[in-house]
Order: sequence, then C-alpha cells, then structure tokens
Amino acid sequence: MKILVINAGSSSLKYQLIDMETKTVAAKGLCERIGIDGSLLTHKNRIAGTETVFEKPMKNHSDAIAMVIDALVSPECGVISSMDEIGAVGHRVVHGGETFADSCVIDDKVMDAIRECIPLAPLHNPANIIGIEACAKLMPNVKQVAVFDTAFHQTMPKQAYMYALPYELYEQKKIRKYGFHGTSHKFVSAEAAKLLGKPIEELKLITCHLGNGSSVSAVKNGKCVDTSMGFTPLDGVVMGTRCGSIDPAVVTYLIDNCGMTAKEVDTMMNKKSGVLGVSGLSSDFRDLSKAAEEGNERADLAVNMFYYSVKKLIAAYAAAMGGADAVVFTGGIGENDAKYRLAITDGLQFMGIKVDPEKNNVRGVTKDVSADDATVKTLVIPTNEELMIALDTERLCK
Ligand code: AMP
Repeated sequence: MKILVINAGSSSLKYQLIDMETKTVAAKGLCERIGIDGSLLTHKNRIAGTETVFEKPMKNHSDAIAMVIDALVSPECGVISSMDEIGAVGHRVVHGGETFADSCVIDDKVMDAIRECIPLAPLHNPANIIGIEACAKLMPNVKQVAVFDTAFHQTMPKQAYMYALPYELYEQKKIRKYGFHGTSHKFVSAEAAKLLGKPIEELKLITCHLGNGSSVSAVKNGKCVDTSMGFTPLDGVVMGTRCGSIDPAVVTYLIDNCGMTAKEVDTMMNKKSGVLGVSGLSSDFRDLSKAAEEGNERADLAVNMFYYSVKKLIAAYAAAMGGADAVVFTGGIGENDAKYRLAITDGLQFMGIKVDPEKNNVRGVTKDVSADDATVKTLVIPTNEELMIALDTERLCK
C-alpha cells in the first residue's frame, strides 16, 4: 500500500508518498504561498532523484492538493501511474484535546470533534481541517486518518496533567497540560525498544525531542506519563524563540506595569524569547554554538540555559518513573549535535547516564552512544513523524 501523508499549515502544505512495503519515501514536497501571489510547489521524486518546481496560482488548499496529485501521477516527475494507487491518506492534526487518545479514521463525527478543538489550537487545527476537506473532495473513496500531536500524551495520569488552578477551569474551559510532538515521542520510543532489544512494555524511557521547538517526555511501559509542553507548545524547556517555563506572574506584571497588551506579551513569549531573546543573536543553535566559541557571552548564556533546562527535566522524569533505562535524543539538535548531547548529559553521571564521546561523534543515525559502564543508556534516534503517521494510517486502514 502507498500512503499519502499530509501536513497542512495555514499557507503551506507538506506531503510525502510512502511505500509501506519498503517503508521508504517515493516522493515528497512542499506547496508554499497557498492563497498568496507567487504560489509554488517543489516536488521531489525520491526514486529518480529529481526535483521539479511548479509555479502556478493555488488559491486554496484544494488547488494545492490537486497539484500534488498531478505531480505524483505526472509521466515526467511522478511516481505512480494513477491516483488509485494511493491506498489511504494520513493527516497530521495538531490538537485532539481530550477526545483523541489515538489516531482515527475520519468521518463526520471525527471532523466535528476536530472542529471543537479549534479554540485549543486556533492557528493549526483550521489549516489541518482545510487539508482534510480538500483531500476528501478530490479522493472521496480513499480512507483518511487523523494523527494527533497530542494523542500520545493522553495516557498521562491526572496528577501530571492538571494545573493547580480552580478545578472549574479544567471542567469548563479544558485548561490542562496536553503536550505536543507526540508523534515523534511515540516513534522514537518504539525505535528505542527495538534498539535495546526489549519489549517497550518493560522500559522506562526519557525522550528528548530537541529542535527549534523542544519537548521532553517520560514514557513508562510504552505510555507517556509526563511531558514538558503544556496547554500550549510554549511551556517546558528553553526553545529557539519560545521562553519555556517561566513564572506566570511575569505576564500580568508586563501587562500591568510595562504597558504591554496581552497580545504583545504572547507574541514576545512565542517569537522573541528563548535562545533568540537571551542571545539577541539567533534562534539557530548552530549560530549560537559558533558565537559562544568566539566568546559571545550572551550566546554562551543562552545555550547554557537550554542545556540546564533539558538536564533538569531528565532527572525529574527519572523521578517520575522511579528510574530510567534510556535517554533518547532526537530532533534537529538532538540528532545532529554531539556537543549538545554531551553538555546536557554532563552531571547526570550520578544517575548512571554517561556518554562515550567517541561513540557520540555521530549525526543523524540511530546509535547507542553510552559509555560501557553506563547503567542508563543514551541513544540517538532520528525521528520520522511522517513514517509514524503512515504506520498509524496503515494500522487503521487494514
Ligand atoms: P528542527 O526544529 O527539529 O528542524 O531543528 C532545528 C534546529 O536544529 C535548529 O536550531 C538547528 O540549529 C538545529 N540543527 C539542525 N542541524 C544541526 C546540526 N547539524 N548541528 C547542530 N544543530 C543542528
């Protein structure tokens, strides 16, 4: 079976066509500037190794998906002979609220429930819905599956997901921790179990998805028991442009005493904070490493704050699970940057975490990088959210 994976944003749409027999990507691409002048589709045929750019107006997501299908079946750059070869479509949906603890086949009831979650993800869920509707229109007989960023975290116990606010806010407004990056945490947990050669039901894993947005999860016996992102993806560790956990009183202080509006504080915390805000230089961790090495003190402070925030969570999540078998690094930084992995784990030797600097000298590969005498393993596992979406879609469409 071939599965089309769709990740629809407000003005962009990413896709991959995955061959489930080989678990490989046949084609992938990106539609940009949907509904804006200058729309374009960049399509990569991974079998032939070619890239084709189509510049054509896309006034909405339906136009974009029609162009994607045309590209997939095109005799010049396509990888399938007809649309009938697409067995199912898997959609990334950001927020499933408390309704979805697993991926599910989309029907009218599911669409209504995804719509009900719009207030929880006002920027993302509407775009995801448009993507689903556009596919349903063009491929009415093909099964569509929704895979939620929040679903994997729905197994958290109540003591982990509740905020100590008046209980009515949870009951009436659904204010609680949801967690994000769930598809990635789920994928790397399963891969970690394979690498360790043990059933996931017997493992305590701490998964660190470290990229521009970062989150850490505690995965006990295959189920998430805590995660660092919260009601929104703003909480938790220090990120590229997001502040992570801060005293919530800072927000009211800025509004009451510093002339900022709620909207301005929100934008500042999401887009101008994190390592960008502290360094005043960049949100890209590569730029910051370089600047820190050249003696830039604020870049050095920013990366140290990042290390420290991740390190503390690793120890906290070992406490939450009563121990840990492995710490898993994934995401742009976690997969690629040996120095960051060493710095984050340094100081955690007391709990049996010890990285071998030589083994750790790798990028983008699945590898056990622990020292021989480590009692808690450190693993590098590249994430593959698209494959996880395709695997869930296949499981539900068989
Ligand atoms: P992501 O959001 O997962 O795509 O990760 C983006 C972040 O990963 C950026 O801040 C990059 O600085 C970082 N990153 C990507 N590639 C590398 C690399 N080779 N070495 C260090 N950091 C990297």
